[in-house]
Amino acid sequence: MGLPADGHVHSQWSWDAPDGDMARTCARAVELGLPAVAFTEHVDLTPWTMPDDQVLLGRPFDVAGYRAALDECRDRYPTLRILSGVEFSEPHWHAAELRALLAGGFDRVLGSVHARPAGDGRFLEMSTAYETLPAAEVVRDYLAEAARMVATNTDFEVLAHLDYPLRYWPATAGPGDITAFEPEFRETLAAVHRSGRILEVNTRQVFHADLLDWWRAAGGRAVTFGSDAHDPDALARQFRAAADAAAAHGFRAGPDPVGPWTRE
Ligand SMILES: [Zn+2]
Ligand SMILES: [Zn+2]
Repeated sequence: MGLPADGHVHSQWSWDAPDGDMARTCARAVELGLPAVAFTEHVDLTPWTMPDDQVLLGRPFDVAGYRAALDECRDRYPTLRILSGVEFSEPHWHAAELRALLAGGFDRVLGSVHARPAGDGRFLEMSTAYETLPAAEVVRDYLAEAARMVATNTDFEVLAHLDYPLRYWPATAGPGDITAFEPEFRETLAAVHRSGRILEVNTRQVFHADLLDWWRAAGGRAVTFGSDAHDPDALARQFRAAADAAAAHGFRAGPDPVGPWTRE
């Protein structure tokens, strides 16, 4: 069984990927035998309050420069399918901006939650949220926000990294075990299924096979895989394990190598 397409990759066109390199990432994809790669660059319009209390706003996405680089890579790596894409933060809070951006046409649109409202006009990035709130509350609120996001008719097809808050789980709060939040994950996954959206299996840090279990139980039919690489070396990291786990849960590659893996 071959590796699946990497549907969540950042390059130098993402403001937070100084080591990103689209051309080298494509070379790496060919080397690994990936059928396709989607460059889903960051569009982060929510001003994030970081742990040092600084407000961080993602740099604007240079769409023209990005598209020129994509064309160049498509010429240089003709055997690789190279998809355009964006990872849009909290798209349900910025629906008009998302609609305007998508008028340009993108192959893959990821929706993700990175921040939460603080209740005083600020938006706490997850790492900041843990400094001011009980850890379990941060995870539960994150999942509730993701459920609200997928319940809107915002135009994105894949829900990225639902386990994102666990990346920043503070050591002081004990082991960050995903199964401690099983009911909340299941509830949000049911909302994802109702929305008709696809669940991303994100392998940037800990790969949580439990999500596949719960997604299948919720009726989930389709998954994509995303390394969330911010540099070429991280491309498709842990994909063997993720693909094997997905296959064990009944998900299979379809005829289109860039499409999601689906189950009957
Ligand atoms: Zn993200
Ligand atoms: Zn990402």
